[in-house]
This record gives sequence, structure tokens and C-alpha cells, in this order.
Amino acid sequence: MPHPRIAVVGSANTDMVIKADRIPAPGETVIGREFVMAPGGKGANQAVAAARLGAEVTFVARLGSDVFGDRAIAGYEQEGIDTTWIVRDPETASGVALIFVDEAGENSIAVASGANARLTPEDVERAREVIASAHVLLVQLEVPLAALSRAIELAHSAGVRVILNPAPAREVPASLLSRVSIATPNEHEIKVVVGESDRARSVAKMLDAGTQTVLVTLGAQGVLWAEKGQQVRVPAFRVQAVDTTAAGDAFNGALAYALASELAMQEAIRYASAAAAIAVTRMGAQPSLATRTEVEAFLRQAGS
Ligand code: ADP
Repeated sequence: MPHPRIAVVGSANTDMVIKADRIPAPGETVIGREFVMAPGGKGANQAVAAARLGAEVTFVARLGSDVFGDRAIAGYEQEGIDTTWIVRDPETASGVALIFVDEAGENSIAVASGANARLTPEDVERAREVIASAHVLLVQLEVPLAALSRAIELAHSAGVRVILNPAPAREVPASLLSRVSIATPNEHEIKVVVGESDRARSVAKMLDAGTQTVLVTLGAQGVLWAEKGQQVRVPAFRVQAVDTTAAGDAFNGALAYALASELAMQEAIRYASAAAAIAVTRMGAQPSLATRTEVEAFLRQAGS
């Protein structure tokens, strides 16, 4: 197996969670019970997911010159992630998500993107050699499209496989989809990305735009694997779900790792589904992400 190298271009946030009996209504103050601060952001979560599996991960992102940025970087370094190309913004705060969780587990979230919204094509350009020499480029939609376009262009022209996890959902131009090797929307996201109301038409439109493989993740129902002329559903593993936060992030990080390790698509989907299944049995985002040893043990037990 070659040593898998993955470049992730995306968002870095700090999640601040208050657990309370209920979510405060406008104008109301609720006395909460518990406060937890944890690293988050889809880019960072997916970078950590891939690093825990043993990939050599470089994370390209923008953080503020504040204590949240310092802590985030220290955390990535602990995971063995290369942080050389993370830009520290002198004027804007690091991205923060304020999250209320109520008794029933229902949540309400406000995100201040901060420095994430200022990631530029030039920031990406500086990491061009890392992107061009990666086995896989992994991107999401939590940073500006112009920066992502540059990353995808660099990877595409170097023959590097591009995985686009189109989350949070927004419309993506066909010119960009044409350079994506694998798109991994969930059922809701795929419709928004191509501006269609129906799943089958959305998949067809994405493939027509030139995306080679579309993997629609369907939660506990698994994955719809679509390419021109073929569609297969790969079932999820049956587990007792405790917290589905970061299921998608676990799936994408592991998919990037598996494909960079030269697994065939079907095996890579199975590997990613196992990593995601483990993540949903645990609380939280980054703390729930599995190591390679855990995924291998899980797959052995599942009888692969
Ligand atoms: P997102 O979190 O982006 O909405 P999904 O909910 O579709 O993504 O989950 C991504 C993948 O995680 C699924 O395709 C599946 O493999 C796995 N997964 C999610 N929920 C469960 C579950 N309850 N049981 C087993 N696997 C799950």
C-alpha cells in the first residue's frame, strides 16, 4: 500500500456547545447546564478523520490570529496534520459555531465564519505543490467557491482525484462539477447543488456535468453509488446510533484515505461506511472519529 497523501482545503471552526433544558426563544435567557468547547468545521473534521486512519494530511485553511486559532492548530498538530499552509488572518476572528442543545438532543446553531470566509485563491495557490502531489484532494463548501475552484483546478490539471463533499449545500456551477472525480452529497444536498427537485434527476444532472462518480449518502440506508450507466446501493452497517454529528465527515475523510490507498470504489465505500458507522455510535464530532485499528477491527467483525 502506498503511503496515502491527502490535501484538504476547507473550514476550521471552534464549536461552543451549551446544553440546556430547552433552546432559548428570541429575547429569552435560559440558564444552561453544561458548556463544551471542541474543534470543528467540516474541513478540519475531515482532515482529522483521514489523519486518524494513517493518511499524510495537509490542511489548507484560514484561522484568526486569536486564541481559538492557536488551539485549533495545536490540535491538528497533535493529530499529525501538516499545518504549514494554514494562513493566520490578522484582521478577522477564527470561525466559531454557537450551538444550543436541548433535552431531546435537538439543536440550534449559529456560525460566524470569520476567517473561513476570507480564504482566497492565493492562499490555495501557495500550497500548489502539496495539492499537485497528493493522491486525493478533499474539499467541502464551507469556504469561498473561488478558493475551492482554484484548488480543484490545480488538482485536476495534475491528475489528482478530487472528492467534493458539497456541504453545507449550495449551488455549484457545472464547470466546477466537471472537474470533480467523486461528489458525496447527502439526499438533501444533491438537489440544492444542481437546482433540481428530485433525486434521480439530480444524480443524472451531476453526471451529465462531468462528475465521474456520485455517492449519495442516505444515513442508515447507506449509499447510492452512481456512475454513467450504473447505479448500486451499498447498505450501511447496522449499529446503535447515539449521535450522528459528523457521520458525513467521518465518511468523507475515510473515503479519501481509502481511495488514496488505492482501494477500488466498492471497497472504499465499505471502508468509509465502517468509519462512519463507528462515529455514529459515539458522542461529538472529532472525538467520535475512528482510528485505523478500530475500523479494521470493525470490518473483521462484520465479516469482510
Ligand atoms: P450527513 O451526516 O452528511 O447528512 P449521512 O447522514 O448520509 O450524511 O451519513 C453518512 C454516512 O454515514 C452514511 O452513508 C452511512 O454510511 C453512515 N451512517 C449515517 N447514519 C448511520 C446510522 N444510523 N447507522 C449506520 N451508518 C450510518
